[in-house]
Amino acid sequence: MVMDQLEEIKRRIDIVEFIGQYLPLKKAGRNFRAVCPFHSDKDPSLMVSPDKQIWHCFGCGAGGDIFGFLMKKEGLEFTEALGQLAERAGVELRTRPRDWGVKSKLFAINELAAKFFEKYMADTVAGRQAMNYLVNRGLSAETAAKFRLGYAPAGWDYLIKFLLRRGYTEAEVEKAGLLVQRKGKVSDKFHHRLMFPIMDITGKVVGFTGRVLDPNDQPKYLNSPETPIFNKGRVLYGLSVTKEDIQEKKAAVLVEGQMDALSSYQAEVKNVVASSGTALTSEQLETLRRHAEMLILALDADGAGSEATKRAIELASAKDLEIRVAILEGYKDPDDCARADPAEWRATVAQAVPIVDFYINYAIKKYGTGSVNDKKKVVAEVLPAINLLASPVEKDQYVKKLSEALGVDSNNLYDALRNLEAKRKPVRRAGTVETPVKSVEKADWLERRIVGMLLFKINHLDSFKEVLDAVEWQSKFVKKVYVELKNCYTGREFSLDGVLARLDYSDKVDLLEILMTVEEYYADMPEGDVAQELRFYINLLKQQHTRVQLAELNRKIVEAERVGDHEKLQQFLEEFNRQF
Ligand SMILES: [Zn+2]
Repeated sequence: MVMDQLEEIKRRIDIVEFIGQYLPLKKAGRNFRAVCPFHSDKDPSLMVSPDKQIWHCFGCGAGGDIFGFLMKKEGLEFTEALGQLAERAGVELRTRPRDWGVKSKLFAINELAAKFFEKYMADTVAGRQAMNYLVNRGLSAETAAKFRLGYAPAGWDYLIKFLLRRGYTEAEVEKAGLLVQRKGKVSDKFHHRLMFPIMDITGKVVGFTGRVLDPNDQPKYLNSPETPIFNKGRVLYGLSVTKEDIQEKKAAVLVEGQMDALSSYQAEVKNVVASSGTALTSEQLETLRRHAEMLILALDADGAGSEATKRAIELASAKDLEIRVAILEGYKDPDDCARADPAEWRATVAQAVPIVDFYINYAIKKYGTGSVNDKKKVVAEVLPAINLLASPVEKDQYVKKLSEALGVDSNNLYDALRNLEAKRKPVRRAGTVETPVKSVEKADWLERRIVGMLLFKINHLDSFKEVLDAVEWQSKFVKKVYVELKNCYTGREFSLDGVLARLDYSDKVDLLEILMTVEEYYADMPEGDVAQELRFYINLLKQQHTRVQLAELNRKIVEAERVGDHEKLQQFLEEFNRQF
């Protein structure tokens, strides 16, 4: 049966370790906490329970087991999550879902391709020449291995043939972004290139960047196309390797290209990621914020004024991520600097300054402060950057700083800032649009909370049994749990396992999740207070139900009046008087 295979998979994969790949987890009592990736979270509201092997977010209510986490995090179907986790756990599924899931297949193809490129780098003459090219640029074999660099051979369809032999079809290889149609023939996408696998945060290969080895080839960098598993705006190059360094330093250094990242890593600035040439997205910043408090942009002076940089500041500021700027002087890019002088690169990063300080210095250097006109130019350059800050305290601080630096009245600057603010379009924070809680959802929440409390503190059942037996549970799930809960309680002894054994898989996970929430809230509450709170919720639920019934009866009365059914009308009105 699939059921016990699910249990087996869950036994073999530790949820703390599993979720820990995606989020930094902090121990909190018996459980672990993290900043939730599913809503815009500031305090860590996501909890992971090693005892129950489940997770739950107190902020947005998301939760479940490892399957649920993987499905939600990667946008997978259940069968896809099952396939991936079975493979990870080393559990051979007896009943393979016929459609194994497109994404799982694409992951498998990309992983095989990465191995193929690694092998070609190690075992062929051309591959070793590619490796030499790296070594000549100062990269060690160790770094190359850590980031899984490889070599795509110059032939026509080596990789395709290799993948076909492994049982994949041309259509699948094409979907994985590794096959192109050329002159009516199929061909490998990458030829005679140095290959950088792009990995997601857990280290799964999702795509590639291929860099030319022959300077006559074009383009210099060739990327995998976007596929169902590769979204350029989501991944950050290097993060699976460097996330622990980023967590430790509480800061991430953002560079542009893969070579920048590798050279920086080798120069002992290991908390580095690359945006791979695309403008930084809100999603990437959200990911970084879960691992770091500070983002250090490695910029040259030209980059500072660019729209992409301004956008990065605005996004980061809205996400409470402190931005600093490391200014490269005399070098083309971080790769250049880190290779020529590793100590210089380390110093550049260590001396990164807060973004607005950077703008102030930059503008004063550019325009000077000699005349009123110069000062106006400085203000025009710096104020928009101050305006991008989300925190009013920070804004205030920088207005004062600017006024001191220029010797101008800060009131004038505040006026100018207000003008800018009026013009500025607000940045919508991801996940902050809250849908109003409907009364049905509210009733559902209450019902779940009530049975959860009973399961946790079964001794209260006796005092509330009568009133609870009269409740018409709206949720079928809660109704079932309530029935089973009574079945498994003898008046003195209670078996939670007994209740769980009578539920099917998803209900079981659901129930454990409820229980985890409840334990979190009530573990330290005195019994008397628990009883009081339970009474409060039960009353609230009754009121809720009354309101729903009232609304329903009201609707019927209006309808009976409209069609002129006096008999029904009379009957409903009597009912109304009887009940309310
Ligand atoms: Zn959440």
